[in-house]
Amino acid sequence: MSTSTPSVFSKIVAREIPATVVAEDDRVIAIEDIAPKAPVHVLVIPKTEQYANVAQLAAGDPDLLAHLVATAQRIADERAGGQFRLVFNTGEAAGQTVFHVHAHVLAGELQEGTLA
Ligand code: 5GP
Repeated sequence: MSTSTPSVFSKIVAREIPATVVAEDDRVIAIEDIAPKAPVHVLVIPKTEQYANVAQLAAGDPDLLAHLVATAQRIADERAGGQFRLVFNTGEAAGQTVFHVHAHVLAGELQEGTLA
Protein backbone atom coordinates (compact mmCIF):
# COMPACT_ATOMS: atom_id res chain seq x y z
CA MET A 1 0.00 0.00 0.00
CA SER A 2 1.11 3.59 -0.30
CA THR A 3 3.24 5.18 2.37
CA SER A 4 2.66 8.59 3.93
CA THR A 5 5.55 10.23 2.07
CA PRO A 6 5.68 10.30 -1.72
CA SER A 7 7.91 7.65 -3.26
CA VAL A 8 10.92 8.65 -5.36
CA PHE A 9 8.87 7.71 -8.43
CA SER A 10 5.95 9.95 -7.39
CA LYS A 11 8.48 12.77 -7.09
CA ILE A 12 9.64 12.02 -10.63
CA VAL A 13 6.03 12.02 -11.88
CA ALA A 14 5.59 15.42 -10.18
CA ARG A 15 8.86 16.70 -11.74
CA GLU A 16 10.30 17.29 -8.27
CA ILE A 17 13.23 15.00 -9.17
CA PRO A 18 14.69 14.98 -12.69
CA ALA A 19 14.60 11.87 -14.85
CA THR A 20 14.97 10.95 -18.50
CA VAL A 21 11.39 10.24 -19.53
CA VAL A 22 11.05 7.87 -22.49
CA ALA A 23 7.24 7.51 -22.51
CA GLU A 24 4.34 8.95 -20.57
CA ASP A 25 0.57 9.02 -20.62
CA ASP A 26 -2.16 9.58 -18.08
CA ARG A 27 -1.53 6.27 -16.29
CA VAL A 28 2.16 5.39 -16.57
CA ILE A 29 5.58 6.96 -16.91
CA ALA A 30 8.68 5.24 -18.31
CA ILE A 31 12.16 6.49 -17.37
CA GLU A 32 15.76 5.48 -17.86
CA ASP A 33 17.04 3.68 -14.75
CA ILE A 34 19.58 5.86 -12.95
CA ALA A 35 21.93 2.87 -12.56
CA PRO A 36 21.43 0.79 -15.72
CA LYS A 37 22.21 -2.93 -15.52
CA ALA A 38 21.87 -3.53 -19.28
CA PRO A 39 22.18 -1.51 -22.51
CA VAL A 40 18.41 -0.94 -22.34
CA HIS A 41 17.16 -0.51 -18.76
CA VAL A 42 13.89 1.37 -18.53
CA LEU A 43 11.49 1.48 -15.59
CA VAL A 44 7.76 1.50 -16.37
CA ILE A 45 5.86 2.90 -13.42
CA PRO A 46 2.16 3.44 -12.75
CA LYS A 47 1.60 7.07 -11.79
CA THR A 48 -0.39 5.98 -8.77
CA GLU A 49 1.70 4.77 -5.86
CA GLN A 50 -1.27 2.87 -4.45
CA TYR A 51 0.33 -0.50 -5.25
CA ALA A 52 3.62 -1.53 -3.66
CA ASN A 53 4.25 -4.56 -5.85
CA VAL A 54 3.04 -6.42 -8.91
CA ALA A 55 0.78 -8.80 -6.99
CA GLN A 56 -1.07 -5.89 -5.42
CA LEU A 57 -1.37 -4.24 -8.83
CA ALA A 58 -2.65 -7.44 -10.46
CA ALA A 59 -5.29 -7.84 -7.77
CA GLY A 60 -6.27 -4.18 -7.59
CA ASP A 61 -6.12 -2.97 -11.19
CA PRO A 62 -5.43 -5.67 -13.79
CA ASP A 63 -6.15 -3.24 -16.64
CA LEU A 64 -3.37 -0.98 -15.39
CA LEU A 65 -1.00 -3.96 -15.21
CA ALA A 66 -1.90 -4.88 -18.80
CA HIS A 67 -1.28 -1.29 -19.86
CA LEU A 68 2.10 -1.30 -18.11
CA VAL A 69 3.09 -4.49 -19.96
CA ALA A 70 1.91 -3.07 -23.29
CA THR A 71 4.01 0.05 -22.64
CA ALA A 72 7.03 -2.14 -21.90
CA GLN A 73 6.48 -4.00 -25.19
CA ARG A 74 6.25 -0.76 -27.14
CA ILE A 75 9.52 0.51 -25.63
CA ALA A 76 11.20 -2.82 -26.45
CA ASP A 77 9.80 -2.64 -30.00
CA GLU A 78 11.39 0.79 -30.41
CA ARG A 79 14.70 0.04 -28.68
CA ALA A 80 15.40 -3.69 -28.77
CA GLY A 81 13.64 -5.37 -31.69
CA GLY A 82 10.75 -6.34 -29.44
CA GLN A 83 12.70 -8.76 -27.26
CA PHE A 84 13.19 -8.01 -23.60
CA ARG A 85 13.13 -9.17 -20.00
CA LEU A 86 10.41 -7.84 -17.72
CA VAL A 87 11.43 -7.92 -14.05
CA PHE A 88 9.34 -7.04 -11.03
CA ASN A 89 11.44 -7.34 -7.90
CA THR A 90 8.96 -8.20 -5.17
CA GLY A 91 10.05 -7.84 -1.55
CA GLU A 92 13.25 -6.67 0.07
CA ALA A 93 14.84 -10.13 -0.01
CA ALA A 94 14.28 -10.17 -3.78
CA GLY A 95 16.06 -6.86 -4.24
CA GLN A 96 13.10 -4.48 -4.22
CA THR A 97 14.19 -1.07 -2.94
CA VAL A 98 11.31 1.17 -4.07
CA PHE A 99 7.90 0.05 -2.82
CA HIS A 100 5.94 1.73 -5.61
CA VAL A 101 5.40 -0.97 -8.21
CA HIS A 102 7.60 -0.71 -11.30
CA ALA A 103 8.69 -3.00 -14.11
CA HIS A 104 12.30 -3.20 -15.21
CA VAL A 105 12.49 -3.47 -19.00
CA LEU A 106 15.90 -4.96 -19.77
CA ALA A 107 17.43 -5.73 -23.15
CA GLY A 108 20.92 -6.50 -24.33
CA GLU A 109 23.54 -8.18 -22.22
CA LEU A 110 22.85 -7.95 -18.50
CA GLN A 111 25.60 -7.04 -16.05
CA GLU A 112 26.89 -10.26 -14.56
CA GLY A 113 25.17 -11.56 -11.46
CA THR A 114 22.06 -9.43 -11.52
CA LEU A 115 18.55 -9.35 -12.90
CA ALA A 116 18.19 -5.63 -12.12
P1 5GP B 1 14.02 -2.10 -7.32
O1 5GP B 1 15.34 -2.33 -6.66
O2 5GP B 1 13.01 -1.53 -6.33
O3 5GP B 1 13.47 -3.24 -8.10
O4 5GP B 1 14.28 -1.00 -8.42
C1 5GP B 1 14.44 0.34 -8.16
C2 5GP B 1 15.20 0.92 -9.32
O5 5GP B 1 15.02 2.31 -9.31
C3 5GP B 1 16.70 0.65 -9.27
O6 5GP B 1 17.11 -0.03 -10.45
C4 5GP B 1 17.32 2.04 -9.16
O7 5GP B 1 18.52 2.18 -9.90
C5 5GP B 1 16.20 2.94 -9.70
N1 5GP B 1 16.17 4.26 -9.11
C6 5GP B 1 16.20 4.56 -7.78
N2 5GP B 1 16.13 5.89 -7.61
C7 5GP B 1 16.05 6.44 -8.86
C8 5GP B 1 15.97 7.79 -9.33
O8 5GP B 1 15.94 8.76 -8.57
N3 5GP B 1 15.89 7.96 -10.67
C9 5GP B 1 15.90 6.90 -11.55
N4 5GP B 1 15.82 7.20 -12.84
N5 5GP B 1 15.99 5.61 -11.13
C10 5GP B 1 16.07 5.40 -9.81
